[in-house]
Amino acid sequence: MSAASYVQSILTTLKQRDPNQPEFFEAASALLKTITPVLEKHPEYMKANILGRIVEPERAIQFAIPWQDDKGQIQINRGFRVQFNSAIGPYKGGLRLHPSVNLSIVKFLGFEQIFKNSLTTLPIGGAKGGADFDPKGKSNAEVMRFCQSFMTELSKYIGPDLDVPAGDIGVGAREIGYLYGQYKRLKGAQRGVLTGKGLSYGGSLARTEATGYGLIYYTDELLKANGESLAGKRAVISGAGNVAIYATQKAEELGVKVITVSDSNGYIVDENGIDVAVVKQIKEVERGRIKAYADRVADSHYYEGSVWDADLQYDLALPCATQNEIDGTQAARFKAAGVIAVAEGANMPSDPEAITAYTDAGILYGPAKAANAGGVAVSALEMSQNSRRLSDSFEKVDGQLHDIMQHIFKASADAAAEYGMAGDYEAGANIAGFLKVADAMYYQGMKVYLDIN
Ligand code: NDP
Repeated sequence: MSAASYVQSILTTLKQRDPNQPEFFEAASALLKTITPVLEKHPEYMKANILGRIVEPERAIQFAIPWQDDKGQIQINRGFRVQFNSAIGPYKGGLRLHPSVNLSIVKFLGFEQIFKNSLTTLPIGGAKGGADFDPKGKSNAEVMRFCQSFMTELSKYIGPDLDVPAGDIGVGAREIGYLYGQYKRLKGAQRGVLTGKGLSYGGSLARTEATGYGLIYYTDELLKANGESLAGKRAVISGAGNVAIYATQKAEELGVKVITVSDSNGYIVDENGIDVAVVKQIKEVERGRIKAYADRVADSHYYEGSVWDADLQYDLALPCATQNEIDGTQAARFKAAGVIAVAEGANMPSDPEAITAYTDAGILYGPAKAANAGGVAVSALEMSQNSRRLSDSFEKVDGQLHDIMQHIFKASADAAAEYGMAGDYEAGANIAGFLKVADAMYYQGMKVYLDIN
């Protein structure tokens, strides 16, 4: 069987088995389609059916999360943990709390996480989890009771050397604190069981900033490799959460003018450059809506709708909100808007038509699994600090993050060139991430079987 037919057969089976998992299918097809040349060079991976095995989670757990709201009513949410692949290390990946969470979304995120984690060079496998709980509008006490119930079940399946969750959409320092507190009550103090912890109980300096900073370090490499630089560029950033805030902060430090931030209702345009201190106050302190920015900052404006429909001129598109936030129609306008590069802070924010539009327009494209890997990289450094029972300085961790992001860009660029796709950083990231995992899977079991046969 040719490599192309093998890939197609895996995708056909996947669609037949899970026809109701569109996000997972989108992520799996995007990856599998770019690694055909790897399979041509490594037929042993086909023989060992690495693809058939890699698209199937090693374990997927779904469970009920009962909790009591402030009115005394009992609410039920649905929780998930998908432990996708442990070939290169313990399962690692965030927890998402958002009403849209379902098995398809958790599987797409867990699948992406396998290759992202591999790209960081650190020994971590891929996983993801979450629940269809909406933290918006809930009191602290409600969030705490929910997190305690969530962890009561999840604690049976995780551990510092087994599976180490972290934050994602809707899970920040507050939620990690409640989750860790409950884990500790149930199983004792094992700091390495979660990352993104508070600094007073085992968190790492620079973890809060890591995904956003890492995105900008990656974008810097992407531009430099193509004869451009960050300084003096104008950027549109979507989202106003953890990733968007620290991407804005680092971009502005490096001379970029960030003109937007957004949430799921609308977006701010500030032609003077987003004042990140105001965004932090609204989002991190008050847990408010981004609309409030326009009331506080002169000459800024709030508009309802998607920032990707805004009529603006800019050089860099940095989506930092959620999956499939940019579609083909929106992406088709990027060239005329002046966009030279898209780098993804969010996971899978560009739908397949959008990615085709970037390629057709010659726009540089930095895919999520490479561009936003800084968060999980620093999470792995947090695990390492927890094992050593020592805390590293901000400068040390930030320096390690910078080195890792430079490595990720170079490894992606080199892999793309080696397989005849120079400049295709998506294919390069997929190939570089895949090779290490495939190799580990191959040598951990199937070699003996193949030799016997
Ligand atoms: P946060 O919860 O801190 O912020 C999410 C932001 O995105 C909010 O402004 C939110 O607005 C907006 N958003 C969420 N859903 C939608 C939607 N359907 N449409 C428009 N806007 C939306 O999450 P993070 O910043 O942590 O995560 C953002 C993205 O980055 C996600 O894709 C996540 O998977 C990815 N990521 C995060 C990492 C991390 O370390 N935190 C690591 C790697 C990737 P609203 O308040 O209205 O919901």
